[in-house]
Amino acid sequence: MKNYDLIIIGAGTSGAYLAQRMARRGHKVLVIEQLSRAKVGTKYDIFHIERREFDRLDIPRPVEGDPAWAFEFEKNYNADPLTLYPKCQTNPIVGLHMHEYTLLLCDRAEETGAEIKFGCAFEDFLYDDSGKICGVTAKQRGRQVSFGARIVADCSGMAAVGRLKLPDGYGVENTPLTDEDMFYVILRYVTIKNPEDYLDGSTFWAAYKAWIAPCADPHGAIIGIGACHSFEYAEQIYAEMESVVPLPEHEVVRIERGRTPYTRNVYSMVADNFFVSGDAGNLTKSVNGEGVTSAMVQLKLGTEVLDRALKLGDTSRKAMWAVNRYYNMTQGAEFAMLRALLVGVVNAVNFDEFQYVFESGIISDELLNALSGQSVPPQALLAAAKGFVTGIAKKKLRTSTIKAAVLALKNAVEIMTHYKRFPETEDGFGQWCAKADEIYEKIGKIK
Ligand SMILES: Cc1cc2nc3c(=O)[nH]c(=O)nc-3n(C[C@H](O)[C@H](O)[C@H](O)COP(=O)(O)OP(=O)(O)OC[C@H]3O[C@@H](n4cnc5c(N)ncnc54)[C@H](O)[C@@H]3O)c2cc1C
Repeated sequence: MKNYDLIIIGAGTSGAYLAQRMARRGHKVLVIEQLSRAKVGTKYDIFHIERREFDRLDIPRPVEGDPAWAFEFEKNYNADPLTLYPKCQTNPIVGLHMHEYTLLLCDRAEETGAEIKFGCAFEDFLYDDSGKICGVTAKQRGRQVSFGARIVADCSGMAAVGRLKLPDGYGVENTPLTDEDMFYVILRYVTIKNPEDYLDGSTFWAAYKAWIAPCADPHGAIIGIGACHSFEYAEQIYAEMESVVPLPEHEVVRIERGRTPYTRNVYSMVADNFFVSGDAGNLTKSVNGEGVTSAMVQLKLGTEVLDRALKLGDTSRKAMWAVNRYYNMTQGAEFAMLRALLVGVVNAVNFDEFQYVFESGIISDELLNALSGQSVPPQALLAAAKGFVTGIAKKKLRTSTIKAAVLALKNAVEIMTHYKRFPETEDGFGQWCAKADEIYEKIGKIK
């Protein structure tokens, strides 16, 4: 049996990125990917990366003419349902083809020394005499194959094939997501009929969790919607949205559907000789369910910790615990806080109130910047608070909505503070999880 330092399940963006980073540090890395090279990354076509992320994450930035490049835009509007008072933020975004970009990351990993076996599907873990993971079994061209590994990383996306195979109590949650924990996303690739309607950026309607954004065709667009529960439910909301939102006249060219985790990250991302990342660990952004770069933030941390563990010869959960601590205290805390706010506010606000918060300026550019991780100046918070008071006085906002917003803020602060107190070692983790579950129970799920 061939042995590796690290076996990665899945050659999506997360797996390929991790493979490259670990191979660069001199480790012997194998990626097993169930799909062929021709099929990897074809689950849908277009995805977005904020331009500033390429340098921060040290990932290749395709430019016009490259196979992975599709388009770029800078203007991002957030709009009320009737689209009368849109707020514009400038944040350069690059639209990329998922298949081509995944291949680019895979090529980079292979050039750095990682081995990728396409058409090789993970089946189960191998365990040593002490019950610790020491490799995998997989199916390749109908034959069962086995590989030894010091660490196995699950980057298998929403299927989370490794994490869900873990024995109970192994150290990472092994429960599957429910329909309430994922976004069913439907993308309509359309052509726009009237040239005056061609897009100069994207528009997001929080009231419907729907958006319209540029696509590779400058005369076209992608109209997207995301909803929990099912595709049928997402279509229902889409029909409602279409009857209200003034979308440009268009013709649908094709429709893509996909799912993305829309729930908290797994509390522990490491166990003895095991690591999980990407959609398999629910590392998507709480604002919109995007997950390519948010996973890479954790993978950057993960690389440092896994590298050190392998070099020191201790790949136990205890030795790799720093991934949990640093992730949960940083991006984890930020996502948890935003999730609590969004769930509380979006669930409470009705149609007229959505209109009012945009019209009155309660939703300001500064508040929207907070969604992309920037801090909110106190004047903006004060202005929002004044707007709420005026809204109640004018009977534009219901007292129940204000109460829900205040509660959401309280829950947001509580969960963020809790994440920032993530235990330094495994001791106290059980109590930490119990308390986090309790807060999440109060936060609830998005409707
Ligand atoms: C419609 C839609 C639009 C989105 N748009 C964006 C966006 O604009 N920006 C953004 O950042 N995110 C976006 N997301 C989310 C993003 O696609 C995911 O967060 C990201 O692709 C997750 O990457 P991953 O590598 O963790 O998982 P995946 O990309 O799912 O890769 C997992 C890989 O594991 C392989 N695998 C699975 N089971 C096995 C097995 N048994 N053996 C071996 N291999 C296996 C799969 O074949 C796959 O190649 C969108 C999601 C959807 C559904």
